[in-house]
Amino acid sequence: MTDGLKLNQISDLYIPDGSDIKNALQRTTVLCIAAHQDDAEIMAYHAIQECYHSKNKFFTSIIITDGAGSEKINESRRYSAEEIKKIRLNEQKRAAKVGKYSAQIQMGYSSGELRGNDKRIIDDLTNIIIACKPEYIFTHNLADKHPTHVAAALRAMDALKAIEDKTWLKAFVGLEVWRGLDWLSDDDKLIFDASQNQRLARSLIRTFKSQIKGGKRYDDAVLGRRRANAVFYRADKADEMKYATYGMDMSEIVFNGKSPEEYISEHINGFKKDIINNIEQLK
Ligand SMILES: [Zn+2]
Repeated sequence: MTDGLKLNQISDLYIPDGSDIKNALQRTTVLCIAAHQDDAEIMAYHAIQECYHSKNKFFTSIIITDGAGSEKINESRRYSAEEIKKIRLNEQKRAAKVGKYSAQIQMGYSSGELRGNDKRIIDDLTNIIIACKPEYIFTHNLADKHPTHVAAALRAMDALKAIEDKTWLKAFVGLEVWRGLDWLSDDDKLIFDASQNQRLARSLIRTFKSQIKGGKRYDDAVLGRRRANAVFYRADKADEMKYATYGMDMSEIVFNGKSPEEYISEHINGFKKDIINNIEQLK
């Protein structure tokens, strides 16, 4: 199935336009590394829409886990772990088709394997990244409150650190799912325009019916967060975007070897400084 691409484990590889895998990975300009099905559509819509409307930009998505954890959600309780895995895998493939992704790779590791730092995951990510050599890699941000998301970001970092020559990579960025990045100082904040094609934005999120029907209205919440991000970005200016996504540029961790703890501490300290300065100036 993976035609020359060496992977320890893969549960599904889907290339919506039927290209061969080598071409689908090589043409990738944006690679998104996410923990679960639906995370890429929640956090990286700005990149999906850009590639969707472009002839020479291509979005590839990697989902590390098998989605089994979500059988705990309300209505999905009637499904077994095996059934929910299959449902979520197919929902993700549908999103890849709707969003015209270059390739959709689902690795199928368990959440426990991802959080337990299973080395096979780092190997597999390294091999896929080398096959893609993308300009941008998006993943979860280090301040996300879901441990599996943070684990995915750390494994992506480890995979990149294992690659010596990364001259093709322009940026490695953390995005919002479980915890927005509104708190970041504006100097530390990347802002991405996610305003194009709201019909596509909505249909991508609504592809994940097992989650929404299970009682999680991600469709409303995600578009609401992007709308709020656009409006609350600047108090002193009219809105420049209708929908926006915030990100943190984590490139220095993979290029300069800064530790994730040091990196996030600096950003948290920047946030603290902003607030304390404000209060001190106004006393
Ligand atoms: Zn997730």
